[in-house]
Order: sequence, then structure tokens, then C-alpha cells
Amino acid sequence: MTHLTDTHIHTWYSNDAHCNMEEVCRSAWEGGLSAIAITDHFEFQKGGVPSSDYLLRASARTAELARVKARWAGKLEVLRGVEIGQPHWNPEGSRAYAGSGDYDMVIGSLHDLRPDRSIYTDYDYSRQEVRDEMYRQFFEEAREMVRVADFDTFGHYDYPIRKMEGFTEPSLTPWKAWALPFLKELAESGKALEINNVGQRRWMGRVGGEQWVLEAFRQYGGRYITVGTDAHYARHVGIHVKEAYAAMRAAGFDKVTVYRERKPVQLSI
Ligand SMILES: [Zn+2]
Ligand SMILES: [Zn+2]
Repeated sequence: MTHLTDTHIHTWYSNDAHCNMEEVCRSAWEGGLSAIAITDHFEFQKGGVPSSDYLLRASARTAELARVKARWAGKLEVLRGVEIGQPHWNPEGSRAYAGSGDYDMVIGSLHDLRPDRSIYTDYDYSRQEVRDEMYRQFFEEAREMVRVADFDTFGHYDYPIRKMEGFTEPSLTPWKAWALPFLKELAESGKALEINNVGQRRWMGRVGGEQWVLEAFRQYGGRYITVGTDAHYARHVGIHVKEAYAAMRAAGFDKVTVYRERKPVQLSI
């Protein structure tokens, strides 16, 4: 049996999303999904300061997530997730939140690089040396994150490419020399790699599961792949999951991973 899963979804508890938890669940259920994780943004900012806009609503969010989880039980498994940005900027603080018991699943992501630069807005990607320098630092910080932070899956390794339209191919190949040591460390840590589906609905034209990336991760001993749409609208929940599964199968993976109470659970695809 194929289990359709989407373990990267935002709701209005993320400032950039446009749907509530109930709408997300309904969309997932209508799409035939068996499990989802709701993973709102929790950013660590300059100096390792946790974002107050998440913290101010964290307890309301936890309570609502528990209610939604109970309401959908038996029809759709709703996992309590969070997407923590830059957890390595405050390893101790981020570990405390990740291990609080509030979450089934934690995505670790890089949206900013040191000292305080947004990958989305603070780089001129028309210049090759800027692209190279950004990705060199991206994988350096990603490796640090693997070593010092507590998270389950590494989110959207192809995030910067979203902003490189017209300047490069939709591929990580130019930065393979930096990507491989990261994939090795991630695999050896026992953490998961996420296939992020955003690329399929942006200029890249395909999900983030680039063949050589998945194959390298598997050859280094990586076992766990998670799949997420990064939906910020209810209508995007669960889309292109089958394309992600096709990429996984081609690279030799036959199970997708979700996390229950921070423990990996592998489901057939
Ligand atoms: Zn993200
Ligand atoms: Zn996200």
C-alpha cells in the first residue's frame, strides 16, 4: 500500500502562510493522504535569539494542534511538527524546544546565513562568485547544524536555487564538492534528508530529489527520506508527492519516513 505523506506544511501560525490547520487537514484528507506534519516557522535570528512571533503563539498553537490531531484521528494522522530555522545559532536553546515534548517531528532549515543574511533577499545571484560563496557557506553551516542541533530532517537543501532563476541550471551539481561532505555527515548522523516539492511548482520544474543527491545520501548510509510540499496554501497540501516518490524509487529508496514523538517510522511508497 502506498502511503501519501506530506511532512512540511505551514499554517497561519507562520507569518507567510494563508490557511488554518483545519483547512490543511481537509485538503490532505481530500487528497487521500495518510499522514501530514504541520511545521510552522520558528526562526533563530541574529545572535541566536528565538523569534518572538512564534513564541508568543506557541502555546496556543500546541493546543490547537492537539485538538486538530484528535478531531482527525482515524481519518488522517496529524503529526505535531515545527520548522526550526538556524538552530545551530543557538544549539542549547533550539535543543530545549525540539526536545520539549511538543513535537513529533522537527525540520532543521537554513533560511539565513551568518552573520545575518537572508538567502532569499541578501545575495546578488547574477554573479557566479556570489552563488559559489553562498553555497560554500550554506553547506558549511548545514554541517555545523548536523553536528550541534537537534532535528529530524534537513529541509529544502535546494532552497537557494529557488532564487537563482536565469542564472544557473536547476541543479546542485556546480556545488557537488561541498554538497557531498554534507550528505555524508547527514547520513552518518542518522537524520533524514527532505525532498521538498516546491521546485515542481517553481522555475526548477521538478521536486528537490535530484538523482545524484539521493543516490549519494543512500550510498553514505542514509536511510530516511521525508517528503514535504512546503505548502503555504491549503490547495498545495500533498501535491507532487508521487513525483517525489518516483525520484526516491529511482535512487533505491522504497520507504518514506515520518516521525512520531521524534522517532522515525518508515512507510511503503
Ligand atoms: Zn523553509
Ligand atoms: Zn517551510
